[in-house]
Amino acid sequence: MLIDPHVHCRDGKQRYKETIEHVFEIAKKQGVDKIFDMPNTDPPILRGADVWKRLALVPKDQEGNYFLYMGATADDGQLAEAVECYRHCKEVVGIKLYAGRSVGDLAVVSEEAQRKVYRNLARLGYKGVLAVHCEKESYLRPALWDPTRPITHSQARPKEAEIASLEDQIKFAKESGFQGTLHIVHISCPESVEIVDKARAEIKISCGVTPHHILWDNEMLDRPDGLLYKMNPPLRGREEVARLRQYLREGKIDWIETDHAPHPLGEKLFPPYASGYPSLYLYRNFVTKFLPQLGIGKKLIKKLTSGNILRVFANKLGSLPNL
Ligand SMILES: [Zn+2]
Repeated sequence: MLIDPHVHCRDGKQRYKETIEHVFEIAKKQGVDKIFDMPNTDPPILRGADVWKRLALVPKDQEGNYFLYMGATADDGQLAEAVECYRHCKEVVGIKLYAGRSVGDLAVVSEEAQRKVYRNLARLGYKGVLAVHCEKESYLRPALWDPTRPITHSQARPKEAEIASLEDQIKFAKESGFQGTLHIVHISCPESVEIVDKARAEIKISCGVTPHHILWDNEMLDRPDGLLYKMNPPLRGREEVARLRQYLREGKIDWIETDHAPHPLGEKLFPPYASGYPSLYLYRNFVTKFLPQLGIGKKLIKKLTSGNILRVFANKLGSLPNL
């Protein structure tokens, strides 16, 4: 059984980009059985009512295969409702914190507001997964972005933004007494893996990587079709990708998550130059051909595509009770 724990099914007002039903069609062709959907939809998934509306869109024959995250905001009542949903709804696998703006409006940007999220989750006794998109706003340089030179996206959202935000999250988790698992989504540089690895001794923490951050470096953005390779966080340099591959081989990255995020061609090549890549389409080849070519054996591939995910989400995917 293979799991993709990070897809953007969009649907609703953005069903022209992607739908839950269509993601399952792609997943089937790619050999993926279960998916975890992300909450930066329009409108975002914040309350119980949003979850019920969302679950109503899941094809009947896929029940038990669709899971979703709820978004975190700095609103105490909203976060308490998300924790309640996590406790009572099997399909809610965790809470997602956008510690920097990406696609959609869902973000908790200031350090103080992020701290509050951790304090609230600790106070509520939340023991589930808090998945975090790490890109610290004060490190972003949007003025450097020039669509005629797509590689500037890499400079506008430098790896330092990811590293600084990741360090913040670890600090907030420790100082608040957060009891859940901190999951760092789509890490894009080797420094992030090193920081996560060091923190494993002190807190429950995991990290995931996308196929695109392992397959490609930011020279792809210099191609004539470079705008297609614009995503957040951006592709990094050749040397960084080589070290990320090495860490993947060494088992220092917990799992593969596609961050599947399609946009129409018009929105990629013309304003708003949307960020995101439809990476679920890469899944089968990535897992069956590319990973073995990297020298990754069957046992580790199994961990990266299901074993480690099943371990962290045991209470949702297995027979253990909710915490
Ligand atoms: Zn994502």
